[in-house]
Amino acid sequence: MSDLISLKEAAEILGVDILFLTHVIDVGDVLPSLPVPKDFREIVFTTDDIERFRLEVARRRFTNFKADYSDVYQQDERPGARGLEFGPGWEGLLRDYADGLRALNAAGGRSRLGWGKEKFGALHLYSDYLLATESAVINLHREAYRASLQTCQECGAAARLRFGHSVCLTLCDRHKHLVGEPDPARDGIILDVSAWTREHGRIAE
Ligand SMILES: [Zn+2]
Repeated sequence: MSDLISLKEAAEILGVDILFLTHVIDVGDVLPSLPVPKDFREIVFTTDDIERFRLEVARRRFTNFKADYSDVYQQDERPGARGLEFGPGWEGLLRDYADGLRALNAAGGRSRLGWGKEKFGALHLYSDYLLATESAVINLHREAYRASLQTCQECGAAARLRFGHSVCLTLCDRHKHLVGEPDPARDGIILDVSAWTREHGRIAE
């Protein structure tokens, strides 16, 4: 067979790192057309695969969101700047949040989303805003946080916080494998790490 593309070459063509590509394959919704070998370093792609993965890269970089919401968010391209560092399943929550900022701006505010990240399976968004709109923006943050703990970070389906032994993420049944073996002491027991920590003190690592 000709024109097979290695994992390393595919990462270069797509402008992503190898870990990004192996994560997409681990998620399991976008796969190369040839069977995936146990050793991920031996994965190969066809040219058609590259086009499908290109769409997935755009989805994971929130390309459509950035085009639709350039009035309230523009990627900060300076070195060390943070971006939208969470999974594509939360794009709906991101759009709801940005709609909220837009509504505040239409009423005279000057809110702008700066960056966002996933931490302990929850969505944290950071914005600049006028003091006069602070409580409204805090409500938008709280809503995004609350909804993220019920929404799969990979696909947007109904989900809960899943605890593995080394990581916790909010995932649906189809994607819960991403945390590995569930940790029986915490999985299904802790559903919001911040709330749990407030009630019970620090979580032992
Ligand atoms: Zn999912």
